[in-house]
Amino acid sequence: MELTAESHSIPLSDGNSIPLIGLGTYADPHEIPKGTAYESVKIAIETGYRHIDGALIYCNEHEVGQAIRDKIADGTVKREDIFYCGKLWNTFHPPELVRPTLEKTLTTLQLDYVDLYIIEMPMAFKPGDEFNPKDESGKWLYHETDLCATWEVECHPYFTQPKLLEYCRQNGIVIVGYSPLGTSRDPSWVNLKCPPMLEDDLLVSIAKKYNKTTAQVCLRFNVQRGVVVIPKSFSPARIKENFEIFNFSLSDADMKAVEGLNKNIRFVELLMWSDHPEYPFHDDF
Ligand code: NDP
Repeated sequence: MELTAESHSIPLSDGNSIPLIGLGTYADPHEIPKGTAYESVKIAIETGYRHIDGALIYCNEHEVGQAIRDKIADGTVKREDIFYCGKLWNTFHPPELVRPTLEKTLTTLQLDYVDLYIIEMPMAFKPGDEFNPKDESGKWLYHETDLCATWEVECHPYFTQPKLLEYCRQNGIVIVGYSPLGTSRDPSWVNLKCPPMLEDDLLVSIAKKYNKTTAQVCLRFNVQRGVVVIPKSFSPARIKENFEIFNFSLSDADMKAVEGLNKNIRFVELLMWSDHPEYPFHDDF
């Protein structure tokens, strides 16, 4: 299938389809000026992005929804052109909280539906108004759940997930790879033992050969093997740069070379929750 800026969706087994690149929208709400997510989502839609990755916990879902609605109102897109993914946060895992939490997302977005709603993480926290519940001594308050669901998968040249990819291919499951550029390297939640991926020598040399950036090579690598990417950027230039991945393709040899970079290390390791009974990130797969 030829991938183009106008046509880069892949089919899902329920008859719907998902665009191979989406805009990630997570940034530390304490550091980002109000309105940044709004402007970024508008620029992304104008650039040609048709998939937006958001969440209630990102605390900017109202801006994201406003941007989508404004781009619908000005005729740039129709609602059905946009693929929006929302997420159920850890404090809302009990079955009776799922529907009201999804409805809260819809009210926040002021949209009638989301295209995908996923369990943000497979680890439940104590339900309540506090998104990050802890006791007086600072210990995280977990919650027991009966979890039988799927969750998003970190995926990039340092964590290529060959076994999982093969399993998903055989079972008709599409992977959405978060942190496809190796995260913002925020020390409060990112595993910094993993070196900065965008400075990798091999990726730099491949990028040079194709007259592209290392970020574009990382993104192209995944979309070329059918993995959806959701790079986050709130910089207009980089939002556009990250979308310019449909006018080149990596040779088989370069795809193999990038695959060879796999270090089986996660940037998103979230060790602060490693004592959670459902902590998933040290399991094989
Ligand atoms: P990414 O790998 O997308 O990296 C984002 C960082 O890279 C930002 O600091 C951004 O800065 C910078 N950047 C973006 N484009 C470029 C470029 N072309 N060249 C150099 N630097 C660049 O990390 P995230 O961890 O944010 O993952 C992406 C999205 O995935 C999140 O925003 C979120 O939507 C989702 N996610 C979901 C998770 C889950 O648990 N379900 C977990 C983690 C992420 P700038 O904005 O200044 O461009």
